[in-house]
Amino acid sequence: MKTLLSGGTIYDFSPDSRCIPGGYLGMEGGRIAFVSEAKPKEFVADREIDCQGCVVLPGFVNCHTHLAENLFKGLMDEVAFEGLFYSTLFRWEGQLDPDMVYWGSLSGALDALRCGVTTVADMYHHAEATARAVCDAGLRGYVGQKVLGFSLDRPPELVNGKVNYNFDFPAFSQQLDAALSFASQWQGKCDGRITTSIAPHATNTLDRRMFAEIARQARDHNLGIHLHLAQMASERETIIAREGMGCVEFLADVGMLDVPVLGAHAIFLKEGEIELLKKHRVTISHNPYPNAKDAAAIAPVPAMRSAGVTVGLGTDAFQMNMLETARFAALLNRVQLGDPSYLSAEETLAMATIEGAKALGMEQEIGSLEAGKRADIVILDLAALNTQPVDDPLKNLFYCGDVSNIKYTIVNGEIVFDEGRFSGVQESTVQQELRRVSTKLWSKIQRLKRGT
Ligand SMILES: [Zn+2]
Repeated sequence: MKTLLSGGTIYDFSPDSRCIPGGYLGMEGGRIAFVSEAKPKEFVADREIDCQGCVVLPGFVNCHTHLAENLFKGLMDEVAFEGLFYSTLFRWEGQLDPDMVYWGSLSGALDALRCGVTTVADMYHHAEATARAVCDAGLRGYVGQKVLGFSLDRPPELVNGKVNYNFDFPAFSQQLDAALSFASQWQGKCDGRITTSIAPHATNTLDRRMFAEIARQARDHNLGIHLHLAQMASERETIIAREGMGCVEFLADVGMLDVPVLGAHAIFLKEGEIELLKKHRVTISHNPYPNAKDAAAIAPVPAMRSAGVTVGLGTDAFQMNMLETARFAALLNRVQLGDPSYLSAEETLAMATIEGAKALGMEQEIGSLEAGKRADIVILDLAALNTQPVDDPLKNLFYCGDVSNIKYTIVNGEIVFDEGRFSGVQESTVQQELRRVSTKLWSKIQRLKRGT
């Protein structure tokens, strides 16, 4: 199947950073065949999509998600996240089963496609259910099974304001074995759309011996790591008290940074730790929306970027709107720096695409529109009033665009979101099943609250 996108303004986000007004992009066998100003005569398309008036971008790479956490939507807002975390969230997560995770993940995967996201980096329980959902939706995923230092049957508890982590090495080992088994079974599955990782939850929710074991297994199995890194003030304080060092220093000390690590958040860093991130090529998912929502601090994005650390963007739980996330990242950092030119539209959209691909170690395959790469593309129509009149398409899109402008999302050369419709699955079925599993989960949570 040969598909031709014709007449759109193509921003390729390649090293040459080309903008091609009225350009042509050919796709064949799931990959980009060419990106050019003129249509090559020898390319005879089976399908041609008129992209006049549209912007054609690489699909967004969402560097940090928990697709199935959709099931908790509305249950965790406007509360102190840190308290909720140890007293409640793990208990709720213990109520999940693979059926719930599948439908929660599938609803998140469709929402991702609706938002122009073509790749998610997801970490959660029952990762096989998430991988199946990513696969069925037609999305691409860097998926890891979450590993904790305790059993969800006996999660951490708050005792006199202090967290007792209830570390349990046999329970951890069981989870690590399951994570490794998932990683080996799913690597490269779904026409190469699934890449697997190991996902230890956070620096404070596993101990030194556990991290050392994960580092050893990751090296042996050639797997990357995706974890929460310095997300909360209490996480940093715990590691300083437990290990006498910061979160990044601890990971380096235990050998974890000898393998590729994607750290989510990176807010509460100690002095000198940004250099350590750079030295060990740790990549970061900046998630400004949930961080602001939880009234946490703002991650030191300018310092990390100027030190040469790769910083992508993520939405974390509940929503998938990468365009809004990119805009919010730019504006938040501008306010902090007092500099209206910081993180231009192009620079920030690079964070949402090619820099995100680098953060996942997948930049050879995705993140830019170049011949030979996977055809992961988002096409946005600027015809609506919110983006008219058009002088600079990329700036119009960045400052005035929204999800309603997204016309097509293409993954692996397949049009998976086609003018409001999903090609892989029936949206009505997903809605129905989401209601079914969320009702079941909420009643379990109610029982938990009542202590019955
Ligand atoms: Zn997270």
